[in-house]
Amino acid sequence: MTFQGPEEELDRLRHPSEALAVVLSNTSLLPSEHVALSEASGRILAADFRAAHDFPLFPASTMDGYAVISDDGSPWRDVVGVQAAGRLIDAEVTPGTAIKIMTGAPLPMGADAVVKVENTEVADEHVIIHQEFVEPGESIRQIGSDVKAGQLLIAAGARIGPAEIGMLAAYGGDPVTVRRKPRVSIVSTGDELLDPSEPLEPGKIRDSNRFMLQSALEAAGAEIIWAGKGPDVRDQLEPLLVKLISDSDIVITSGGVSMGDLDLIKPILMDLATVHFRRIFLKPGKPLNFATAGPTLIFGLPGNPVSALVGVEIFIKSAIRKMTGSGDGPQTVRVTLGRDTEPTDRVEYQRAIVTVDQDGRLTAVANGPQGSSRLASFLGANALIVIPPRETRYFAGEMVDAILIGELGSGI
Ligand code: AMP
Ligand code: MG
Repeated sequence: MTFQGPEEELDRLRHPSEALAVVLSNTSLLPSEHVALSEASGRILAADFRAAHDFPLFPASTMDGYAVISDDGSPWRDVVGVQAAGRLIDAEVTPGTAIKIMTGAPLPMGADAVVKVENTEVADEHVIIHQEFVEPGESIRQIGSDVKAGQLLIAAGARIGPAEIGMLAAYGGDPVTVRRKPRVSIVSTGDELLDPSEPLEPGKIRDSNRFMLQSALEAAGAEIIWAGKGPDVRDQLEPLLVKLISDSDIVITSGGVSMGDLDLIKPILMDLATVHFRRIFLKPGKPLNFATAGPTLIFGLPGNPVSALVGVEIFIKSAIRKMTGSGDGPQTVRVTLGRDTEPTDRVEYQRAIVTVDQDGRLTAVANGPQGSSRLASFLGANALIVIPPRETRYFAGEMVDAILIGELGSGI
Protein backbone atom coordinates (compact mmCIF):
# COMPACT_ATOMS: atom_id res chain seq x y z
CA MET A 1 0.00 0.00 0.00
CA THR A 2 1.22 3.45 -0.78
CA PHE A 3 1.03 6.14 1.83
CA GLN A 4 -1.78 8.59 1.09
CA GLY A 5 -0.76 11.84 2.70
CA PRO A 6 -3.24 14.68 3.03
CA GLU A 7 -2.02 16.36 -0.18
CA GLU A 8 -2.66 13.17 -2.18
CA GLU A 9 -6.14 12.91 -0.68
CA LEU A 10 -6.88 16.54 -1.62
CA ASP A 11 -5.79 15.83 -5.20
CA ARG A 12 -7.74 12.58 -5.50
CA LEU A 13 -9.99 12.83 -8.56
CA ARG A 14 -13.45 12.99 -7.01
CA HIS A 15 -16.57 12.06 -8.94
CA PRO A 16 -18.66 15.24 -9.54
CA SER A 17 -21.49 13.85 -7.37
CA GLU A 18 -19.07 13.23 -4.48
CA ALA A 19 -17.64 16.74 -4.88
CA LEU A 20 -21.16 18.22 -4.91
CA ALA A 21 -22.05 16.31 -1.74
CA VAL A 22 -18.94 17.76 -0.02
CA VAL A 23 -19.92 21.28 -1.09
CA LEU A 24 -23.52 20.90 0.08
CA SER A 25 -22.55 19.34 3.42
CA ASN A 26 -20.45 22.44 4.12
CA THR A 27 -23.23 24.87 3.15
CA SER A 28 -25.81 26.23 5.57
CA LEU A 29 -28.98 28.28 5.34
CA LEU A 30 -28.56 32.06 5.49
CA PRO A 31 -30.66 34.16 7.90
CA SER A 32 -33.91 35.76 6.76
CA GLU A 33 -34.74 39.44 6.50
CA HIS A 34 -37.75 41.62 5.77
CA VAL A 35 -38.05 43.58 2.54
CA ALA A 36 -40.78 45.79 1.10
CA LEU A 37 -43.01 43.95 -1.38
CA SER A 38 -41.85 46.37 -4.09
CA GLU A 39 -38.27 45.12 -3.53
CA ALA A 40 -39.11 41.41 -3.27
CA SER A 41 -39.08 40.41 -6.94
CA GLY A 42 -36.56 37.62 -7.58
CA ARG A 43 -35.96 36.98 -3.88
CA ILE A 44 -36.50 33.65 -2.13
CA LEU A 45 -39.43 33.42 0.30
CA ALA A 46 -38.12 32.42 3.74
CA ALA A 47 -41.36 31.34 5.46
CA ASP A 48 -44.56 29.67 4.26
CA PHE A 49 -47.07 32.33 3.25
CA ARG A 50 -50.62 31.52 4.34
CA ALA A 51 -53.91 33.32 3.70
CA ALA A 52 -54.89 35.50 6.66
CA HIS A 53 -58.49 35.54 5.44
CA ASP A 54 -60.93 33.96 2.98
CA PHE A 55 -60.97 35.22 -0.57
CA PRO A 56 -63.31 36.62 -1.59
CA LEU A 57 -64.28 37.98 1.82
CA PHE A 58 -67.84 38.66 0.61
CA PRO A 59 -70.03 37.06 -2.08
CA ALA A 60 -68.99 38.92 -5.24
CA SER A 61 -70.53 39.21 -8.68
CA THR A 62 -68.50 37.72 -11.55
CA MET A 63 -70.54 39.63 -14.15
CA ASP A 64 -71.96 43.02 -14.98
CA GLY A 65 -75.72 42.44 -14.68
CA TYR A 66 -78.58 42.41 -12.19
CA ALA A 67 -78.68 40.99 -8.69
CA VAL A 68 -81.97 39.13 -8.27
CA ILE A 69 -83.80 36.51 -6.22
CA SER A 70 -83.33 33.30 -8.27
CA ASP A 71 -86.82 31.86 -7.79
CA ASP A 72 -88.60 35.20 -8.24
CA GLY A 73 -90.82 34.52 -11.26
CA SER A 74 -91.78 38.20 -11.85
CA PRO A 75 -91.96 39.02 -15.60
CA TRP A 76 -90.16 42.32 -15.01
CA ARG A 77 -88.53 43.92 -11.98
CA ASP A 78 -88.11 47.41 -10.56
CA VAL A 79 -84.45 48.47 -10.51
CA VAL A 80 -84.05 49.78 -6.96
CA GLY A 81 -80.33 50.69 -6.97
CA VAL A 82 -76.89 50.33 -8.47
CA GLN A 83 -74.20 48.29 -6.69
CA ALA A 84 -70.69 49.23 -7.87
CA ALA A 85 -67.49 47.53 -6.70
CA GLY A 86 -66.03 48.96 -3.50
CA ARG A 87 -68.86 49.70 -1.09
CA LEU A 88 -72.13 47.95 -0.15
CA ILE A 89 -75.16 50.16 -0.90
CA ASP A 90 -78.00 50.47 1.55
CA ALA A 91 -80.67 48.72 -0.52
CA GLU A 92 -82.22 45.28 -0.55
CA VAL A 93 -83.52 43.04 -3.33
CA THR A 94 -87.10 41.92 -2.63
CA PRO A 95 -89.52 39.95 -4.87
CA GLY A 96 -90.28 42.00 -7.96
CA THR A 97 -87.06 44.07 -7.72
CA ALA A 98 -83.42 43.89 -8.91
CA ILE A 99 -80.24 45.87 -8.28
CA LYS A 100 -77.88 46.69 -11.11
CA ILE A 101 -74.46 45.26 -10.24
CA MET A 102 -70.87 45.46 -11.57
CA THR A 103 -68.21 42.75 -11.75
CA GLY A 104 -66.43 42.34 -8.41
CA ALA A 105 -69.16 44.18 -6.47
CA PRO A 106 -70.56 42.66 -3.27
CA LEU A 107 -73.91 40.93 -3.61
CA PRO A 108 -76.64 43.18 -2.12
CA MET A 109 -78.86 41.93 0.69
CA GLY A 110 -81.79 39.78 -0.37
CA ALA A 111 -80.24 38.67 -3.69
CA ASP A 112 -78.94 35.14 -4.29
CA ALA A 113 -77.99 35.31 -7.99
CA VAL A 114 -76.76 37.63 -10.72
CA VAL A 115 -78.15 37.59 -14.26
CA LYS A 116 -75.58 38.85 -16.74
CA VAL A 117 -76.46 41.98 -18.63
CA GLU A 118 -76.41 40.16 -21.98
CA ASN A 119 -79.53 38.21 -20.87
CA THR A 120 -81.51 41.27 -19.80
CA GLU A 121 -83.40 44.12 -21.38
CA VAL A 122 -84.12 47.48 -19.81
CA ALA A 123 -87.50 49.18 -20.33
CA ASP A 124 -88.30 52.38 -18.41
CA GLU A 125 -87.35 51.76 -14.76
CA HIS A 126 -87.68 47.99 -15.17
CA VAL A 127 -85.45 45.13 -16.21
CA ILE A 128 -86.74 42.07 -18.07
CA ILE A 129 -84.86 38.79 -17.58
CA HIS A 130 -84.53 36.79 -20.83
CA GLN A 131 -83.53 33.58 -19.12
CA GLU A 132 -85.83 30.66 -18.40
CA PHE A 133 -84.14 29.64 -15.16
CA VAL A 134 -81.91 31.53 -12.81
CA GLU A 135 -79.79 29.19 -10.67
CA PRO A 136 -79.27 30.09 -7.00
CA GLY A 137 -75.66 31.30 -6.75
CA GLU A 138 -75.45 32.05 -10.47
CA SER A 139 -72.51 34.35 -11.41
CA ILE A 140 -71.46 34.71 -7.76
CA ARG A 141 -68.08 33.91 -6.25
CA GLN A 142 -68.90 32.65 -2.79
CA ILE A 143 -66.94 33.56 0.35
CA GLY A 144 -63.68 31.60 0.39
CA SER A 145 -64.29 30.00 -3.01
CA ASP A 146 -60.81 31.00 -4.28
CA VAL A 147 -58.87 30.68 -1.04
CA LYS A 148 -59.73 29.67 2.52
CA ALA A 149 -58.25 31.41 5.58
CA GLY A 150 -55.13 29.55 6.71
CA GLN A 151 -54.53 27.91 3.32
CA LEU A 152 -50.88 27.61 2.19
CA LEU A 153 -50.45 30.09 -0.66
CA ILE A 154 -46.68 30.03 -1.35
CA ALA A 155 -44.23 27.59 0.23
CA ALA A 156 -40.94 28.76 1.75
CA GLY A 157 -38.10 28.42 -0.76
CA ALA A 158 -40.12 29.70 -3.73
CA ARG A 159 -38.54 32.32 -5.94
CA ILE A 160 -40.80 35.37 -5.94
CA GLY A 161 -41.98 36.10 -9.49
CA PRO A 162 -44.93 38.12 -10.80
CA ALA A 163 -47.63 35.64 -9.68
CA GLU A 164 -46.11 35.42 -6.17
CA ILE A 165 -45.97 39.23 -5.99
CA GLY A 166 -49.66 39.36 -6.94
CA MET A 167 -50.58 36.79 -4.26
CA LEU A 168 -48.49 38.53 -1.60
CA ALA A 169 -50.16 41.84 -2.46
CA ALA A 170 -53.68 40.34 -2.40
CA TYR A 171 -53.16 38.83 1.05
CA GLY A 172 -51.30 41.66 2.74
CA GLY A 173 -47.79 40.20 2.44
CA ASP A 174 -45.91 43.48 2.75
CA PRO A 175 -43.19 43.49 4.03
CA VAL A 176 -42.09 39.99 2.95
CA THR A 177 -39.80 37.61 4.82
CA VAL A 178 -37.06 36.55 2.40
CA ARG A 179 -33.67 34.88 2.64
CA ARG A 180 -30.73 37.25 2.77
CA LYS A 181 -28.92 37.28 -0.58
CA PRO A 182 -25.62 35.40 -0.50
CA ARG A 183 -22.75 37.93 -0.46
CA VAL A 184 -20.26 36.96 -3.12
CA SER A 185 -16.81 38.27 -4.02
CA ILE A 186 -15.08 37.49 -7.29
CA VAL A 187 -11.31 37.68 -7.76
CA SER A 188 -9.58 37.11 -11.11
CA THR A 189 -5.95 36.10 -10.93
CA GLY A 190 -3.29 35.88 -13.61
CA ASP A 191 -0.54 38.18 -14.91
CA GLU A 192 -1.96 37.90 -18.42
CA LEU A 193 -5.26 39.62 -17.69
CA LEU A 194 -6.32 43.00 -19.04
CA ASP A 195 -9.60 44.82 -18.59
CA PRO A 196 -12.02 44.50 -21.53
CA SER A 197 -11.56 48.20 -22.35
CA GLU A 198 -7.74 48.02 -22.42
CA PRO A 199 -5.86 47.55 -25.71
CA LEU A 200 -4.39 44.07 -26.16
CA GLU A 201 -0.66 43.47 -25.87
CA PRO A 202 1.40 40.44 -26.86
CA GLY A 203 0.90 37.59 -24.41
CA LYS A 204 -2.10 39.22 -22.76
CA ILE A 205 -5.78 38.27 -22.83
CA ARG A 206 -8.81 40.05 -21.56
CA ASP A 207 -10.34 39.13 -18.22
CA SER A 208 -13.67 37.66 -19.25
CA ASN A 209 -14.23 35.56 -16.14
CA ARG A 210 -14.80 38.41 -13.73
CA PHE A 211 -17.67 39.87 -15.77
CA MET A 212 -19.09 36.49 -16.73
CA LEU A 213 -19.06 35.25 -13.14
CA GLN A 214 -20.59 38.47 -11.87
CA SER A 215 -23.43 38.12 -14.38
CA ALA A 216 -24.00 34.42 -13.59
CA LEU A 217 -23.99 34.97 -9.85
CA GLU A 218 -26.28 38.00 -9.97
CA ALA A 219 -28.73 36.03 -12.09
CA ALA A 220 -28.58 33.28 -9.47
CA GLY A 221 -29.68 35.76 -6.78
CA ALA A 222 -26.35 36.73 -5.24
CA GLU A 223 -25.22 40.18 -4.14
CA ILE A 224 -21.76 40.90 -5.54
CA ILE A 225 -19.90 42.80 -2.83
CA TRP A 226 -16.47 42.87 -4.53
CA ALA A 227 -15.27 41.99 -8.02
CA GLY A 228 -11.84 42.75 -9.39
CA LYS A 229 -8.42 41.56 -10.40
CA GLY A 230 -6.37 40.26 -7.50
CA PRO A 231 -2.85 41.63 -6.97
CA ASP A 232 -0.10 39.45 -8.43
CA VAL A 233 2.00 39.31 -5.28
CA ARG A 234 1.23 37.02 -2.41
CA ASP A 235 1.65 39.53 0.41
CA GLN A 236 -1.05 41.70 -1.21
CA LEU A 237 -3.36 38.95 -2.47
CA GLU A 238 -3.47 37.15 0.86
CA PRO A 239 -4.74 40.11 2.95
CA LEU A 240 -7.32 40.88 0.26
CA LEU A 241 -8.62 37.31 0.50
CA VAL A 242 -8.65 37.48 4.31
CA LYS A 243 -10.88 40.55 4.11
CA LEU A 244 -13.15 39.07 1.42
CA ILE A 245 -13.53 35.83 3.39
CA SER A 246 -14.65 37.74 6.45
CA ASP A 247 -17.13 39.88 4.46
CA SER A 248 -18.57 37.22 2.12
CA ASP A 249 -20.66 34.07 2.19
CA ILE A 250 -18.89 32.87 -0.97
CA VAL A 251 -15.47 33.88 -2.32
CA ILE A 252 -14.76 32.89 -5.90
CA THR A 253 -11.33 33.06 -7.46
CA SER A 254 -10.52 32.18 -11.04
CA GLY A 255 -7.18 31.00 -12.37
CA GLY A 256 -4.05 29.76 -10.70
CA VAL A 257 -5.21 26.32 -9.63
CA SER A 258 -3.78 24.03 -12.34
CA MET A 259 -1.22 21.35 -11.47
CA GLY A 260 2.30 22.73 -11.42
CA ASP A 261 0.89 26.23 -11.54
CA LEU A 262 3.10 29.11 -10.48
CA ASP A 263 0.07 31.01 -9.29
CA LEU A 264 -0.78 31.82 -5.74
CA ILE A 265 -4.28 30.61 -5.03
CA LYS A 266 -3.52 27.06 -3.93
CA PRO A 267 -0.87 27.90 -1.30
CA ILE A 268 -2.93 30.82 0.01
CA LEU A 269 -6.00 28.61 0.43
CA MET A 270 -3.91 26.02 2.27
CA ASP A 271 -2.84 28.83 4.60
CA LEU A 272 -6.16 30.58 5.16
CA ALA A 273 -8.81 27.89 4.92
CA THR A 274 -9.72 24.22 5.22
CA VAL A 275 -9.26 22.79 1.74
CA HIS A 276 -11.71 19.94 1.00
CA PHE A 277 -10.70 18.97 -2.52
CA ARG A 278 -8.62 20.24 -5.41
CA ARG A 279 -9.46 18.00 -8.34
CA ILE A 280 -12.64 16.59 -9.84
CA PHE A 281 -13.19 13.72 -12.28
CA LEU A 282 -14.81 16.30 -14.53
CA LYS A 283 -14.24 17.72 -17.97
CA PRO A 284 -13.94 20.64 -18.30
CA GLY A 285 -13.05 21.85 -14.82
CA LYS A 286 -10.75 19.24 -13.30
CA PRO A 287 -8.63 21.59 -11.14
CA LEU A 288 -11.51 23.07 -9.13
CA ASN A 289 -10.55 23.85 -5.53
CA PHE A 290 -13.09 23.94 -2.74
CA ALA A 291 -12.29 25.25 0.73
CA THR A 292 -14.11 26.70 3.72
CA ALA A 293 -13.15 29.26 6.33
CA GLY A 294 -15.78 29.32 9.08
CA PRO A 295 -19.14 29.59 7.30
CA THR A 296 -17.58 31.07 4.14
CA LEU A 297 -17.30 28.88 1.06
CA ILE A 298 -14.30 29.42 -1.20
CA PHE A 299 -14.28 28.16 -4.77
CA GLY A 300 -10.98 28.29 -6.63
CA LEU A 301 -12.23 27.97 -10.20
CA PRO A 302 -9.93 27.10 -13.10
CA GLY A 303 -9.03 30.10 -15.25
CA ASN A 304 -10.45 28.59 -18.36
CA PRO A 305 -13.76 30.43 -18.89
CA VAL A 306 -15.66 27.28 -19.92
CA SER A 307 -14.36 25.36 -16.91
CA ALA A 308 -15.21 28.28 -14.65
CA LEU A 309 -18.80 28.50 -15.89
CA VAL A 310 -19.33 24.73 -15.64
CA GLY A 311 -18.11 24.99 -12.04
CA VAL A 312 -20.69 27.73 -11.39
CA GLU A 313 -23.52 25.69 -12.88
CA ILE A 314 -22.77 22.48 -11.00
CA PHE A 315 -21.36 23.59 -7.67
CA ILE A 316 -21.82 27.28 -6.92
CA LYS A 317 -25.46 27.57 -7.97
CA SER A 318 -26.19 24.44 -5.92
CA ALA A 319 -24.58 26.06 -2.88
CA ILE A 320 -26.65 29.22 -3.45
CA ARG A 321 -29.84 27.17 -3.62
CA LYS A 322 -28.98 25.49 -0.34
CA MET A 323 -28.03 28.82 1.31
CA THR A 324 -31.37 30.33 0.32
CA GLY A 325 -33.49 27.25 1.06
CA SER A 326 -34.59 27.02 -2.56
CA GLY A 327 -33.19 23.57 -3.37
CA ASP A 328 -29.84 21.86 -3.62
CA GLY A 329 -28.24 20.07 -6.57
CA PRO A 330 -28.83 21.02 -10.20
CA GLN A 331 -32.06 20.10 -11.96
CA THR A 332 -31.35 16.90 -13.90
CA VAL A 333 -33.53 15.46 -16.67
CA ARG A 334 -33.16 12.46 -18.97
CA VAL A 335 -32.55 13.32 -22.63
CA THR A 336 -32.09 11.40 -25.85
CA LEU A 337 -28.78 11.97 -27.59
CA GLY A 338 -29.40 13.52 -30.97
CA ARG A 339 -25.99 12.54 -32.33
CA ASP A 340 -23.27 9.94 -31.77
CA THR A 341 -20.90 11.15 -29.07
CA GLU A 342 -17.34 10.09 -28.27
CA PRO A 343 -16.70 9.77 -24.52
CA THR A 344 -13.53 11.17 -22.93
CA ASP A 345 -11.44 9.98 -19.96
CA ARG A 346 -13.54 11.94 -17.42
CA VAL A 347 -17.22 12.68 -16.87
CA GLU A 348 -17.77 15.26 -19.55
CA TYR A 349 -20.37 18.02 -19.24
CA GLN A 350 -21.05 19.00 -22.83
CA ARG A 351 -22.73 22.31 -23.51
CA ALA A 352 -25.84 21.37 -25.45
CA ILE A 353 -29.13 22.49 -26.87
CA VAL A 354 -32.07 20.45 -25.61
CA THR A 355 -35.34 20.66 -27.51
CA VAL A 356 -38.73 19.25 -26.58
CA ASP A 357 -40.96 17.66 -29.24
CA GLN A 358 -44.77 17.50 -29.36
CA ASP A 359 -44.80 14.38 -27.16
CA GLY A 360 -42.63 16.03 -24.53
CA ARG A 361 -39.50 14.03 -25.40
CA LEU A 362 -36.22 15.82 -24.83
CA THR A 363 -33.43 15.55 -27.38
CA ALA A 364 -29.93 16.95 -26.87
CA VAL A 365 -27.34 18.01 -29.42
CA ALA A 366 -23.90 19.28 -28.38
CA ASN A 367 -23.50 22.99 -29.10
CA GLY A 368 -20.51 22.85 -31.47
CA PRO A 369 -16.92 21.88 -30.60
CA GLN A 370 -16.41 21.20 -26.89
CA GLY A 371 -12.85 22.47 -26.47
CA SER A 372 -12.46 23.79 -22.94
CA SER A 373 -11.35 27.23 -24.11
CA ARG A 374 -14.26 27.66 -26.53
CA LEU A 375 -16.70 29.78 -24.55
CA ALA A 376 -18.95 30.01 -27.63
CA SER A 377 -20.14 26.49 -26.75
CA PHE A 378 -22.15 28.18 -23.95
CA LEU A 379 -23.82 30.69 -26.29
CA GLY A 380 -27.45 29.63 -26.65
CA ALA A 381 -26.85 26.39 -24.71
CA ASN A 382 -29.66 25.42 -22.33
CA ALA A 383 -28.19 22.24 -20.86
CA LEU A 384 -25.06 20.38 -19.90
CA ILE A 385 -25.28 16.76 -21.04
CA VAL A 386 -23.45 14.33 -18.82
CA ILE A 387 -21.22 11.87 -20.71
CA PRO A 388 -19.48 9.43 -18.33
CA PRO A 389 -16.37 7.67 -19.67
CA ARG A 390 -16.81 4.19 -21.16
CA GLU A 391 -15.14 1.89 -23.67
CA THR A 392 -17.55 2.45 -26.54
CA ARG A 393 -19.01 5.54 -28.10
CA TYR A 394 -22.50 6.80 -27.27
CA PHE A 395 -24.97 6.38 -30.08
CA ALA A 396 -27.73 8.74 -31.17
CA GLY A 397 -30.95 7.58 -29.51
CA GLU A 398 -29.33 6.61 -26.19
CA MET A 399 -30.59 8.25 -23.01
CA VAL A 400 -28.24 10.30 -20.81
CA ASP A 401 -28.59 12.79 -17.94
CA ALA A 402 -28.62 16.51 -18.61
CA ILE A 403 -28.52 19.50 -16.28
CA LEU A 404 -30.89 22.24 -17.35
CA ILE A 405 -29.21 25.66 -17.36
CA GLY A 406 -31.72 27.61 -19.46
CA GLU A 407 -35.16 27.58 -21.03
CA LEU A 408 -36.28 24.61 -23.12
CA GLY A 409 -36.99 25.38 -26.77
CA SER A 410 -39.61 23.54 -28.84
CA GLY A 411 -37.20 22.66 -31.64
CA ILE A 412 -39.89 23.20 -34.26
P1 AMP B 1 -5.16 28.93 -15.21
O1 AMP B 1 -6.28 28.22 -14.51
O2 AMP B 1 -4.69 30.14 -14.50
O3 AMP B 1 -4.05 27.98 -15.54
O4 AMP B 1 -5.75 29.44 -16.59
C1 AMP B 1 -6.21 28.57 -17.59
C2 AMP B 1 -6.49 29.34 -18.87
O5 AMP B 1 -7.54 30.27 -18.64
C3 AMP B 1 -5.32 30.16 -19.38
O6 AMP B 1 -5.35 30.12 -20.79
C4 AMP B 1 -5.64 31.56 -18.88
O7 AMP B 1 -5.05 32.54 -19.69
C5 AMP B 1 -7.14 31.59 -18.98
N1 AMP B 1 -7.70 32.53 -18.01
C6 AMP B 1 -7.32 32.66 -16.72
N2 AMP B 1 -8.02 33.62 -16.09
C7 AMP B 1 -8.86 34.12 -17.03
C8 AMP B 1 -9.84 35.15 -17.01
N3 AMP B 1 -10.10 35.85 -15.89
N4 AMP B 1 -10.53 35.42 -18.14
C9 AMP B 1 -10.28 34.71 -19.26
N5 AMP B 1 -9.39 33.73 -19.34
C10 AMP B 1 -8.65 33.44 -18.25
MG1 MG C 1 -2.99 31.32 -14.57
